Amino acid sequence: MGDFIIRIENLSKTFEGGEPVLKNVTINIKKNEFITLLGPSGCGKTTLLRILGGFDEQTTGKIYFENKLLKGIPPYKRKLNTVFQKYALFPHMNVTENIAFGLNIKKVHKDTIKNKVAQMLSLVNLQGFEDRKVTSLSGGQQQRIAIARALINEPEVLLLDEPLGALDLKLRKSMQIELKKIQKQLGITFIFVTHDQEEALTMSDTVVVFKGGKIQQIGSPVDIYNEPDNAFVANFIGESNILSGIMIKDFLVKFDEVEFGCVDAGFGENTMIDIVIRPEDFQIFMDTDKVAKLQGIVKRVTFKGVHYEMEIKTKFRTFIVHSTKMFPVEAIVGLDLNPEDIHIMNKGDNDE
Ligand code: ATP
Repeated sequence: MGDFIIRIENLSKTFEGGEPVLKNVTINIKKNEFITLLGPSGCGKTTLLRILGGFDEQTTGKIYFENKLLKGIPPYKRKLNTVFQKYALFPHMNVTENIAFGLNIKKVHKDTIKNKVAQMLSLVNLQGFEDRKVTSLSGGQQQRIAIARALINEPEVLLLDEPLGALDLKLRKSMQIELKKIQKQLGITFIFVTHDQEEALTMSDTVVVFKGGKIQQIGSPVDIYNEPDNAFVANFIGESNILSGIMIKDFLVKFDEVEFGCVDAGFGENTMIDIVIRPEDFQIFMDTDKVAKLQGIVKRVTFKGVHYEMEIKTKFRTFIVHSTKMFPVEAIVGLDLNPEDIHIMNKGDNDE
């Protein structure tokens, strides 16, 4: 257990008179990890972050910080700092006064504060902004000041609640890269909350997918994307084709009356399962080129910048297929799949 900076054990939360919003949450967080809590609005991400920050308390369960029980410790005494979505800067203070706020309270020497503020401004790429009014800054600049204000306290863990949510797409992308760089540079543990799956996949070492207060899957971005545990994760993480099938035996699955080789085993024989197929994993070709396992008609084509998205209607369903090659509407096409592109999931835990 030594390597974990935070351990969350069987944590549940029910607000008075309400339904449970966190159900038996267990997460182990390593030192220097960039971990993201991902899920749709209302799934309990912020509530978990608030409990970690000391702004709220769990109903049951335990949190350990560096192997010590974290209980009854007020927010300002925790080695955690929080950055919220709304920057919550003090409008009547300039940039320096905002960043220095925590150190001024601790009565740190003025020269030390000056040096540290300069260090922080360089870290967030805002050198020379010392005397600017915060109200004169853009959204992105304000958010960077909020991050600098949290980091100057040298927290061991930074909690970030949708910190990029209010920024436009381009700024958001560049801030994602900057934040990740800062995290690596300082070696701080980041616990990041977002409902944006792309953001989670880009930035994190580990992603925790939530639905209705329950963890659906914990894993690296690659694992979560390639090996989703259930249909909810598959769908939430990226556009997918999700269908029912039968696992005939290890490494052999059947759907839409066709048998396919796959790389999964251990589901038993003749077992109903769910299958996820990513749109980019199909091989698509003109039907005349070779005999395909599945045959369909192109019903819609949309250009998406790098690839074409096509709806292919087969005898049993409509698949979403991505390809850099365009097949025109009404073309009769063949579809095929490599074994590793068919992901098998247990049935039953999809809607829970
Ligand atoms: P979002 O992405 O929209 O911020 P979230 O995943 O962070 O959502 P939470 O803010 O944690 O979700 O909310 C989880 C559930 O708990 C919601 O149904 C919310 O209405 C409820 N909730 C949050 N705070 C309180 C509170 N103080 N009292 C009662 N219910 C609350």
